[in-house]
Amino acid sequence: MPKTKQKKNKKLSFDLIVVGAGLAGGTAALSAARKGLKVALIERGQTPGGKNYFGGTVYTHALEEVFPDFWKRNPPLERPVTEAGYWMLSETGMTRITVQGGELLKNPADAYIGMMAKFNAWWVEQAQAEGVFLIPKTLVVDFIRDARGAIIGVQTDRPEGEVYAPVTIICEGVNNILTQKAGLIDHDLRPETVALVVKQLISVPAEDINARFGLPDSDHGLAVSVIGDISLGLTGLGFIYTCKSSVSLGVGVDLDVLDNHHARPYDLMQRFLKHPQIAPLVAGGQMMEYGGHLIPEGGWRQMPKLYGDGVLVAGDAAAMVNALHWEGTNMATVAGKLAGEAAFEAHQRKDYSAGSLKVYQDKLNDSFILRDLRQYRNFSHFLNTHHDFMDVYPGFINTALGKFFSGFGQPKRQLYRDILRSLTRRKPLLRAVGDIVSFGRTIIGW
Ligand SMILES: Cc1cc2nc3c(=O)[nH]c(=O)nc-3n(C[C@H](O)[C@H](O)[C@H](O)COP(=O)(O)OP(=O)(O)OC[C@H]3O[C@@H](n4cnc5c(N)ncnc54)[C@H](O)[C@@H]3O)c2cc1C
Repeated sequence: MPKTKQKKNKKLSFDLIVVGAGLAGGTAALSAARKGLKVALIERGQTPGGKNYFGGTVYTHALEEVFPDFWKRNPPLERPVTEAGYWMLSETGMTRITVQGGELLKNPADAYIGMMAKFNAWWVEQAQAEGVFLIPKTLVVDFIRDARGAIIGVQTDRPEGEVYAPVTIICEGVNNILTQKAGLIDHDLRPETVALVVKQLISVPAEDINARFGLPDSDHGLAVSVIGDISLGLTGLGFIYTCKSSVSLGVGVDLDVLDNHHARPYDLMQRFLKHPQIAPLVAGGQMMEYGGHLIPEGGWRQMPKLYGDGVLVAGDAAAMVNALHWEGTNMATVAGKLAGEAAFEAHQRKDYSAGSLKVYQDKLNDSFILRDLRQYRNFSHFLNTHHDFMDVYPGFINTALGKFFSGFGQPKRQLYRDILRSLTRRKPLLRAVGDIVSFGRTIIGW
């Protein structure tokens, strides 16, 4: 049960507490500190980013929104994304649907590949330079409430570890333990809305990466989602990102699906790495990192209430991830910024009630975050009920293109019949058309 305190302990008090020094927390703390608030950023890891985990993409629009002079700050990023798209695997083959050049050749590019442990630590250093007080190696275990039940501080795992502030922003990442304790959501993570991602970082010399992935030089990078054979037909996706001199590869599958099929993430990863089209890309490389992490993919339908008396929630903790576009870092950053600004406005009004902090929800409603999450609100359910997009269709596209580009010397009418049959053997044509229409409706948001 949350503690109820009548008296305010003056020992350690701030204008704002932010829990979790990921991108959401780092940005929330920074944007409030910039406006003059005294901000404590509490992180359980040894360092910011120490508990964070991925090599993936960060997005220029969000970075520049926080730091207009972002590129002058010498950020520790890997490569710009100059090629992006989908790779579809069959058992032995692969079809690549990627885009390169054109829109993706901007300078700066729209997206960059980053190693989050490094990038996150750097991000929080920038926040500290602007006045954020970082309290590392400290776990927030509960909230302190006043007699009316409003949150007025946090209880940490340190002796006498109470920290007070009239507003707390929860940026605890995917595990919604504090979000539940704050009363913003009433259930644990649902296995069907969370993907378990296993990832390896494999070191490969930069020139080999360029040659193997067809990149002109180390100022070009590839970010692709991989579907098909790797997830054994289960609801899941793989990904590949080229860093400067390493390749980040992973597979993510919904927790409930792993459980129902007794599938082991390690086996999926091994299958991915051994695939005849993938293995040569990382041949001879040394594994530098191996680990697993959850991604909240439930989106709109799994979002907690975003504000309460003395509390806000942002980033993964609020299920702000667009699973189709791999957008999580930009949502965390922009939502963090808006939460920090909302806390500042509440200070100006000297009103920290839910009614005052609702301004955060209003700001989010106007941003791409809630608009997109609302539009994609059925996507997670769509994937869970349309497994053929992971298995039958990628396999069909490989077979169809394979036959089209190899069936020489046979009457073409027969060729087309064979191609169609390779689909209808596994899926009646009308149902396939229905699936495509249904996919279209899902992403348009009807
Ligand atoms: C393998 C993988 C690949 C990904 N690829 C991409 C990608 O390519 N592009 C993209 O945009 N997104 C990607 N994502 C998603 C993206 O990483 C997240 O959406 C984003 O980083 C969330 O930021 P956050 O600040 O909300 O949470 P986090 O980065 O998880 O930060 C939460 C912080 O809170 C701390 N914390 C938690 N509880 C407490 C507590 N009680 N007390 C103190 N501290 C606490 C944690 O230690 C952590 O530092 C990927 C995720 C994974 C796992």
